[in-house]
Amino acid sequence: MPETILIMNGLNAHYGDFQALYGVDMHIDAGEILAIIGANGAGKTTLMRSITGLLKNGANQILHAGADIGGLRADEIATRGIAMVPEGRQLFPSLSVKENLMIGAQVGRKGPWDLQAVYKLFPILEERKDQQSTSLSGGQQQMVAIGRALMSNPDLILFDEISLGLAPVIIKDIYRALPGIIGEGMSAIIVEQDIAQALKVSSRVYCLQEGRVSLEGASDTVSREEISRAYFGIE
Ligand code: ATP
Repeated sequence: MPETILIMNGLNAHYGDFQALYGVDMHIDAGEILAIIGANGAGKTTLMRSITGLLKNGANQILHAGADIGGLRADEIATRGIAMVPEGRQLFPSLSVKENLMIGAQVGRKGPWDLQAVYKLFPILEERKDQQSTSLSGGQQQMVAIGRALMSNPDLILFDEISLGLAPVIIKDIYRALPGIIGEGMSAIIVEQDIAQALKVSSRVYCLQEGRVSLEGASDTVSREEISRAYFGIE
C-alpha cells in the first residue's frame, strides 16, 4: 500500500463571508501525480492556498504525513516539505536566476535537489544564472519557479496553472520534464486549464465545481461525458 502523503478532510475555505470551498475530501499518495481541473472560479487556487497555509482552515481538515497542518504558517508548511509553483511565477525581479533559485534552498531540507541538479534539468538556467530573472522569457521564468520549488526538496509540489501564458513548445518541454521531477516518492498536484494535458500527465483527477468535488476518477478511464458534466454541471 502506498503511503498517503496528504489528506483533505471536509476542507472549507472562506474569504470573509464568502465560502469558496465546501467540505472538500481528497487524498494523494506518495509518488502520485494528481490533477485538479475545474472552470474559472471553481476554487482550484483557493485549494492550493489552503494547503500551503496562505488561507486558514479548521482543525484536522488538512493532514500531511498524518499530522494536522491546518494551523501552521506558510513558512512552517514549506519546512515540512510542501512547495508551490505559483500561478504567475512570482520571482524576485531584482535578483539573478541563481539568487532566485537559492531562495528555495533556505528552507534547509536535505535531498537530491541542489543548483547542479536544477541546472541539469533546465540547462538554459545555468547559461543565464547571473542574469536578472526579468530578462528571461516567460517559459524560462517558469523553469526558475519550478527550480526554486525543487531546491526546497519537498515531498509534495503544487503546480498552479504552469502552462498559463506559455508557448505550446515550452509547455511541452516542461511537461516532458515532469516525470523526472517526480522521483523517488515525491508527489505532485497539478492545477491545469488544459484538461487533455492534465489527464495525460496524472494518474488520478478531481474536478471542482463551485467549491465542491464534482468528480474523482482514474485519469485514463474518466470519459469526456463525465468530465463535461463535472466541469460545467451539464446533465
Ligand atoms: P481561476 O481558474 O480563475 O484561477 P479558481 O478555480 O482557481 O479559478 P479561485 O481563485 O480559487 O478559483 O476562486 C474561487 C472563488 O473564490 C471565486 O468565486 C472567487 O471569486 C473567490 N475568491 C478568490 N479569491 C478571493 C478573494 N481574495 N476575496 C474574495 N473572494 C475570492
